[in-house]
Amino acid sequence: MSIRTKISLWYAGLLTLIIIAFSIAVFGVIQATIINSIDSGLARSSSNIIRNIRVIPLGEFGTLETSVIFRNEEIFRVPGLSVQVWQTRDGENTMDPILLQSSFDLTGFTRPLDANALASERPNFTDVEFNNMPERVMTRPFTTAGGQKIGVVQISSSTLIVEQVTDGVLSIMISATVIGVVVSIVLGMMVSYRAVRPIQEITAAATKVSTTTDLSTRLPNNVPDDEIGRLTKVFNHMMARLEHIFGVQQRFVADLSHELRTPLTAIQGNLDIIKRFGADESSIQAIQDETQRMTRMVNEVLMLARADYGDITIDMYPLDLDALVEDCYNTFPALAHARNRDLTFELVRNEAVQINGNYERMQQVVSNLVVNAIKFTADKGIISISVYPRNEQTAVIEVSDTGIGISAEDLERIFDRFYQADHSRRHFTDHDGAGLGLSIVKWIVDTHNGTIEVESKPDEGSTFKILIPLLKENVESQKSTTEVIHYQSTAPYAVTDNDVSITS
Ligand code: ADP
Repeated sequence: MSIRTKISLWYAGLLTLIIIAFSIAVFGVIQATIINSIDSGLARSSSNIIRNIRVIPLGEFGTLETSVIFRNEEIFRVPGLSVQVWQTRDGENTMDPILLQSSFDLTGFTRPLDANALASERPNFTDVEFNNMPERVMTRPFTTAGGQKIGVVQISSSTLIVEQVTDGVLSIMISATVIGVVVSIVLGMMVSYRAVRPIQEITAAATKVSTTTDLSTRLPNNVPDDEIGRLTKVFNHMMARLEHIFGVQQRFVADLSHELRTPLTAIQGNLDIIKRFGADESSIQAIQDETQRMTRMVNEVLMLARADYGDITIDMYPLDLDALVEDCYNTFPALAHARNRDLTFELVRNEAVQINGNYERMQQVVSNLVVNAIKFTADKGIISISVYPRNEQTAVIEVSDTGIGISAEDLERIFDRFYQADHSRRHFTDHDGAGLGLSIVKWIVDTHNGTIEVESKPDEGSTFKILIPLLKENVESQKSTTEVIHYQSTAPYAVTDNDVSITS
């Protein structure tokens, strides 16, 4: 059974129950009110009759038996009421009931209005059938002046009106119930249709997504802020993320294959040369270089992919950055030498700072920055490195060079995966990077709750500053909301929820 039918049936069922309960209550109240009104009329008239009865006790005025006298015969002419006065005792003795007097409408009728009630000692009301008509009878004993019961007055009124009114109310209630149920089913169907329609739309959209590769499907956004509205928003949000992730994957694969094509073409070319002219040293070296380059690239890509899926755990512990920077600094000349570069290295500031971090990862950060500085700085240039605290909250590692610099436009994108500025490609056609070094730097800095600042001017040089919370201020600075964000990369391959944290 569909949700729509269930909602309608529940709706109709509940409404029917409410109408029936309401009808029973109204019915009961009307019936009780009319009967009360009849009873009080009977009670009033019976007291009036009893007030006009005079009982003469045995022996008074020389009589031999108790006599009952009616002071006013008019009391038997009450319109709409039938009256009988029965004597049931003579002094102390019970006797066969004698009808002493009755109203004119009962002339010739000698049976009691309610025979069972003649013996009653207290006033009471009973319902009887009289000539096939419903009657309400009040039986009320009357007594001597001394309180001795002599007989009863029976007075009755038709309760046909009660039946007529209750029958009328009943038929109205039944019609109202039927109409109510029909209307509630129709309304229930309409309301449930409106309520369920967005779910049907979501189902249709999800079906479309599951049968095609079109992830641009969205549901109308003008939805009310209710459960369905929130479901619609969550669905749209989920689709947006899926589309983003899918786009990221597609671009990633495209970029990766593009980047792999260059070394593969170079290897292919060198192999052709070897095939034609025999193996020569430079071709073999070129193949080796390209193979190393591809290996490095694949390793970097794998690491970033694992980072994206949270597959890498990094041990964090108190780390002396000054010692780490000094260790790295000592390796710089060898790095430059390996690339045949004539550069000067300076350790400008090396102040004691401690962070919560990982030695290997932070070493990778410094190394990537310095390798870039070496790559993009012409001979005779100066590369300087510093480490120092800022505002007693942050540790700063600063790597500056006097190299080719980065344009403002490229600055926006250098942290994107596979991004390489044209400028640097033109200057250094032999450079062996794949545009992943800074993406890795950014990811490591993110994991250390840090940020990156870059200042650069084309042809003047660049300065990269890595800012990591100091160990003693760690908790304090993480709470801080006044952190200045200097640079926000567009990170085209960021597929985790940490899009904000890739701010560098
Ligand atoms: P790559 O492997 O190409 O060095 P990176 O992600 O490390 O990749 O850097 C991305 C790009 O940023 C580089 O290709 C270069 O254009 C630019 N870049 C990075 N560091 C510097 C620098 N110190 N000076 C000039 N340009 C730089």
